[in-house]
Amino acid sequence: MGELAAPGFLLLFAVGAVSCWDPSGYLLYCPCMGRFGNQADHFLGSLAFAKMVNRTLAVPPWIEYQHHRPPYTNMHVPYQEYFKLEPLQKYHRVISLEVFMEKLAPEHWPPGERVAYCFEAAAQRSADGKTCPMKDGSPFGPFWDNFDVDFDHSNLFGGISFSAFFKDEWLTRFPPSEHPVVALPGAPAQFPVLEEHRALHRYVVWSDKMVQEGESYIRSLLVRPYVGIHLRIGSDWKNACKMLKDGTAGPHFMASPQCVGYSRQSAGILTMDMCLPNLKEISRALKLWVKEIGALAVYIATDSESYKSEIQQLLGGKVKVVSLQPDVALIDTYILSQSDHFIGNCVSSFTAFVKRERDVHRRPSSFFGMDHPPSRDEL
Ligand code: GDP
Ligand code: MN
Repeated sequence: MGELAAPGFLLLFAVGAVSCWDPSGYLLYCPCMGRFGNQADHFLGSLAFAKMVNRTLAVPPWIEYQHHRPPYTNMHVPYQEYFKLEPLQKYHRVISLEVFMEKLAPEHWPPGERVAYCFEAAAQRSADGKTCPMKDGSPFGPFWDNFDVDFDHSNLFGGISFSAFFKDEWLTRFPPSEHPVVALPGAPAQFPVLEEHRALHRYVVWSDKMVQEGESYIRSLLVRPYVGIHLRIGSDWKNACKMLKDGTAGPHFMASPQCVGYSRQSAGILTMDMCLPNLKEISRALKLWVKEIGALAVYIATDSESYKSEIQQLLGGKVKVVSLQPDVALIDTYILSQSDHFIGNCVSSFTAFVKRERDVHRRPSSFFGMDHPPSRDEL
């Protein structure tokens, strides 16, 4: 292509334009709850909230917790490391928090004028009862320190939530003329992501770098068709799933609405096999789907052990069993999202990201403890 295609040109223009000040104001937040899956759920809700209140969203970096290997501190990984910023613009105005701080903050949000916004209830825990806990502890403190941000004032609110019901209230209480930059201690969103916000995942598009890396792993290690599985079975998860056993948790437990349904009234049952599949359940589901799609390979993503040799034994020599256990968890996410069939963990938001990504591209998924291939009659 010799000429710059018109859509690409417009896109460049749009991305360039966000470095001008937006008179409709900005929304900043710390993705301070949970790891990648939780942060991604919160991101979709925050994107929807920013659009609702018509503010440019300052897209935060991902917070990664590297407490077991260097640098032993929280890492703040720019959104664009994994995903493209441009496709988000098709839905709503965004700017990366990095660019906001570098290009806009010095003039429009200078030190001395930085206001924190939070619920009264959150501020009550502070020493004077009136200060937003923006930087209390990790990951809050390190997140804002990473941008050299201190807060000078607090603006407390109550009687509202981030739901669409309060849209007008947000607009009238916080006009951008008086509140140009609204910075929040956490995401203005729910966990898990609301059903109506799941579709926003289509604007979350892998970066070229991730596609290149992910595809090269798939090419060199795997054969198609392959089944991808997510094993969320580590010690933190075992503890969490105990709440199911002792009845502390109902069917809506963390990301489980993705498989039991979003309606509380009609939610299906959440079983232990769905939360914490054992080797027997993993084997059952794998055998079923390997046969169903005639898989030549299996990719195991795991938070702890992979059961690679047990699975290899189960499937025999004709199926290649691969587990990379990469340093960058999103490499697993990528490889799972590209598989020919995916079996995930219903309760995990790490699975939820993969499931949404596959839904966008109409790729089939199922969950441990509840997957059934289509019967022959249905085909
Ligand atoms: P959730 O706790 O399962 O809902 O998902 P989160 O993403 O919030 O937290 C789990 C974290 O554990 C992930 O972000 C990863 O850092 C790690 N993790 C879980 N499963 C896997 C996996 O299959 N592969 C890798 N590489 N990391 C995983
Ligand atoms: Mn988590």
